Amino acid sequence: MSKPIDPSSIIKPGGVIGILGGGQLARMLAMAAAQIGLKTHIFCPDAHCPASDVCSVMTNALYTEEAALKRFAETVDVVTYEFENVPVGAVSLLTDYGALVRPGARALEKAQDRLQEKDFLNAIGAATAAYHGVDDLQSLEAGLEKVGRPAILKTRRLGYDGKGQTTLTDNDLDLPGAYDKAIQFAWDEVGAAPSILEGFVPFKCEISIIGARSADGDIRLYDPTENVHHRGILKTSIAPAAIAGATAQQAAAIATSILNALDYIGVIGVEFFVLSNGDLIVNEFAPRVHNSGHWTSDACTVSQFEQHIRAVAGWPLGDAARHSDAVMENLIGEEANTWKLLAAEPGACLHLYGKREARPGRKMGHVTRVTEKT
Ligand code: AMP
Repeated sequence: MSKPIDPSSIIKPGGVIGILGGGQLARMLAMAAAQIGLKTHIFCPDAHCPASDVCSVMTNALYTEEAALKRFAETVDVVTYEFENVPVGAVSLLTDYGALVRPGARALEKAQDRLQEKDFLNAIGAATAAYHGVDDLQSLEAGLEKVGRPAILKTRRLGYDGKGQTTLTDNDLDLPGAYDKAIQFAWDEVGAAPSILEGFVPFKCEISIIGARSADGDIRLYDPTENVHHRGILKTSIAPAAIAGATAQQAAAIATSILNALDYIGVIGVEFFVLSNGDLIVNEFAPRVHNSGHWTSDACTVSQFEQHIRAVAGWPLGDAARHSDAVMENLIGEEANTWKLLAAEPGACLHLYGKREARPGRKMGHVTRVTEKT
């Protein structure tokens, strides 16, 4: 549904997009912005962050530094972010200083707290795993009664790539003393922090959909992608996902409801579990460009990165059509050392993030292998 845009919120070529965070997502957003004549100002505590190589302006400061946030708000035309754990305090300060923040605080609030996120999803009719809020050992026990075993205990806040999570299986829990020990262990594993207990979803595969909503309410969706994780980190994304048409339609309908319910502006990534009957359970959504959408840079008319920049700049959205099939593989840690081989491989599009040190588990780059559309 189209709604009128305030002309003063349209950023013209030459305008400046402020980005909170300077990782690889900010780097790819900055490159996409440059392609359509927009500049980027990165706000990041790390002077050597991946986006520092490719942005127009950089502020190195903590997200709590009020004076730096004020200067940033005054010098950019719109503010967006590349990670969902940006402190809500920084976003409210930026708004107080007059900055236009897209996507808005509502999406950020829901995505930062797994309990609020699940409540929101259920309220709009999107199915999630069974869940229970956990604040102490008693509520953890009550949660286990409710969701059954196996179950996954996750911190409500600041979890990513499987961090801040632990699984409670049903192995040996009925032996004397084992139950108490297991729940104490799980509670210690999440640092006794406010958490959520989720029932284990026996999924057939995991998919995600990347969607975008413009300031005037136009929505564009990319084809769903099948995702394979290794040790909690995304390893491979396959586009298109080999799922039934009805499942793809369900994913599109759920993503559309989320975007509209949040009055969202920008790109969102929604992750799902696919059940054996083809039905979908939402795992989570990320209010930003998403690793499982990296393939769009090489296999779609307009990438998720340009789409996000267009949306937050108040521009019309671009064509999300997929012109090729694609398999994206993350290059984690030392895997990026194969860059020379990958650079020589026909059909492979290599992306390296310019990170100085290849620590284990660190995303250093990705390669997208593009083939003819099926
Ligand atoms: P998350 O950090 O919530 O995205 O979880 C990371 C990965 O753990 C997911 O991509 C799944 O592979 C797995 N996982 C998370 N929650 C569940 C669940 N409730 N049931 C089954 N697997 C899960």
